[in-house]
Amino acid sequence: MSASTERLKSSTVLVCALVLFTACLAAGQPQVPPAKKTRVVLLGTGNPGPTPDRSGPATAIVVNETAYLVDFGPGIVRRASAAFRDKDIKALEPTKLRVAFVTHLHSDHTVGYPDLIFTPWTVGRRVPLEVYGPRGLKAMTDHILAAYRVDIETRTNPDGNQRTFPDGYKVNAHEIGPGVVYKDENVTVTAFATKHAMESYGYRFDTTDRSIVLSGDTNPTQATIDACRGCDVLIHEAHTPAWLLTRPDYFQRFSAKYHTTTPELAELGRQAKPRLLILYHYNSLSPEELIGDMLARYAGHFVVGRDLDVY
Ligand SMILES: [Zn+2]
Ligand SMILES: [Zn+2]
Repeated sequence: MSASTERLKSSTVLVCALVLFTACLAAGQPQVPPAKKTRVVLLGTGNPGPTPDRSGPATAIVVNETAYLVDFGPGIVRRASAAFRDKDIKALEPTKLRVAFVTHLHSDHTVGYPDLIFTPWTVGRRVPLEVYGPRGLKAMTDHILAAYRVDIETRTNPDGNQRTFPDGYKVNAHEIGPGVVYKDENVTVTAFATKHAMESYGYRFDTTDRSIVLSGDTNPTQATIDACRGCDVLIHEAHTPAWLLTRPDYFQRFSAKYHTTTPELAELGRQAKPRLLILYHYNSLSPEELIGDMLARYAGHFVVGRDLDVY
């Protein structure tokens, strides 16, 4: 045996002994549970247009392996399934999708509603969905359930695949106003009125370790600034002025009343002072243009959200 082989052998023994010693020490220690950390998972950052790589507006706040969804744009359940499979976020396994909040009833935020009601049920969800949102939510829910009456009857009859768990498609729809709308052991959720084309709300989530505010669609509002006030994360919509100029006049007028431009968001961010500002539901001429627009006006920490990003 050469001297170098001998050295290698003895150093290997030394390393093994150290590993064993460390393992013994660890075994003698009380097990420390992993840190509880609230995560924001962007399930969809897109717009009404069907951009293939940006699903419709949907966000998950994940606390202690429980998911709280905000908005159900198209693609929500498949994006949740992708986050479960690719990011190992167990709370987003589809049968665990049980609580959702909707900012307003525009179709780009709600066409994933039947998906959220029925897809998790077909793969095993056994309990009703709890959904919170503005007036009109109950009627929308009733109409969706009526539209799928044949499916529900077929799945729950004596031959039906879901006959042993017939409650999984049901929905408890809660119509809300401003104030605390939900509270459990993980989270307190407070709604605040926003300024959009219909009754609309933003939501603030307070957990043991983070405060997260989500705007939904809105003109800049003092209510959003007040809801954040140094919050950990503010998730806000934005359009660049250059992109808006490419749109028809009527949309420019609509947007001036009911959406937020990047200069407006920069000013709102300066007042709200989030530790992290996430742009979502954005439009711009290009990603570079959007980032450049914000960099020129906003000194705080911001990111342009992409589907399946986790913060
Ligand atoms: Zn809208
Ligand atoms: Zn929208």
